[in-house]
Amino acid sequence: MVRHEHEYHPLTVVDVVDETADTRSFVLDIPPALKETFTYAAGQFCTFRAEIDGEQVVRCYSMSSSPDTSDPFTTTVKRVPDGLMSNWMNDTLASGGTIDVLRPSGLFVLHDRDVPIVAFAGGSGITPVISIVKSALATTDRRILLVYANRSADAVIFADDLERLRAASDGRLSVHHHLDSERGFLDAAQCAALVGDDAHADFYICGPGPYMDIVVAGLAPLDVTTDRVFIERFVLPEPAPAAAGSDDVVTESLVIKLEQRETTVPYEAGETILDTARRAGLSPPFSCEQGNCATCMAHLDEGTATMRVNNALSLDEVGEGWVLTCQGLPTSPRVVVDYDA
Ligand SMILES: Cc1cc2nc3c(=O)[nH]c(=O)nc-3n(C[C@H](O)[C@H](O)[C@H](O)COP(=O)(O)OP(=O)(O)OC[C@H]3O[C@@H](n4cnc5c(N)ncnc54)[C@H](O)[C@@H]3O)c2cc1C
Repeated sequence: MVRHEHEYHPLTVVDVVDETADTRSFVLDIPPALKETFTYAAGQFCTFRAEIDGEQVVRCYSMSSSPDTSDPFTTTVKRVPDGLMSNWMNDTLASGGTIDVLRPSGLFVLHDRDVPIVAFAGGSGITPVISIVKSALATTDRRILLVYANRSADAVIFADDLERLRAASDGRLSVHHHLDSERGFLDAAQCAALVGDDAHADFYICGPGPYMDIVVAGLAPLDVTTDRVFIERFVLPEPAPAAAGSDDVVTESLVIKLEQRETTVPYEAGETILDTARRAGLSPPFSCEQGNCATCMAHLDEGTATMRVNNALSLDEVGEGWVLTCQGLPTSPRVVVDYDA
């Protein structure tokens, strides 16, 4: 495979669109030389980096635009109370400004299958979902049901765009808005009822954690197979206290290949591969440290490892031996990882 590129590119904001009182879209200019780097699939995200109050902050934001329509490259950011990056972008990032962006990534994408699409979005979770909806409308004949939950009507992002898409879809797109202010939280039985006869669909779920849990609970009695359920988590669960993968395997050492040098480091239980490398005084590449951006990926030349979270590598890449070292826990006595591969 082609190794993921780790370089941040300063992109210029060419337009800022007020979507709701606490959400703005940022249209980014992709210069011709970077067109290939910033080619993306509907539903993917980019990793953004900014210096805020002297601190370097790195966060992921999905594209709300579709690569399959005439949309310009756009990301949509909702303020999180007291959140560093989301408020900085909404308050400070203006037209003409620049922000450092890493190439697109992510596995929450449209899959080529001839079944309906049922999408459950909540709040800012609409961002990757509307991208997928637009691409599915533009490139397939699939029927789409979008269930979109929000606290109240004024929190609904893209209300007009969704209505326009629905009206132009020839009956293929149905949009069900659920407003907590009118009907309380959506519950599992309502989710199942909304799915109706479409249990064979592909399911896309993105929203606050508790909302996604309810949707998953709603799908459980419908015998929806897990390979048809695609989930994008904006907030990752706290990792469980780290334990090296298997009870009876003790990892003794890691051999780390970086910048054409090999360093052997005794392994300390619970560390990620990235932790071990840093403890040894090495400076491997890393960025989000949440398993999203793949900046820290390395090749497992020998041995095995599991990942606590993997939102960036495809199954094929994992099969080829790539590992996100910020999430990778060794599971064999000796592990050799190559950052230069
Ligand atoms: C793959 C991926 C794609 C994403 N796409 C988008 C997107 O398209 N649009 C978008 O607005 N956001 C998106 N996010 C969320 C985004 O990356 C940030 O987590 C969010 O903007 C908060 O960052 P912050 O720096 O403002 O807050 P922080 O300073 O990180 O956090 C402030 C506090 O809020 C909590 N918190 C963090 N994120 C959330 C959240 N989303 N909801 C509620 N509480 C939270 C934290 O635990 C912390 O206590 C995405 C996240 C991921 C992993």
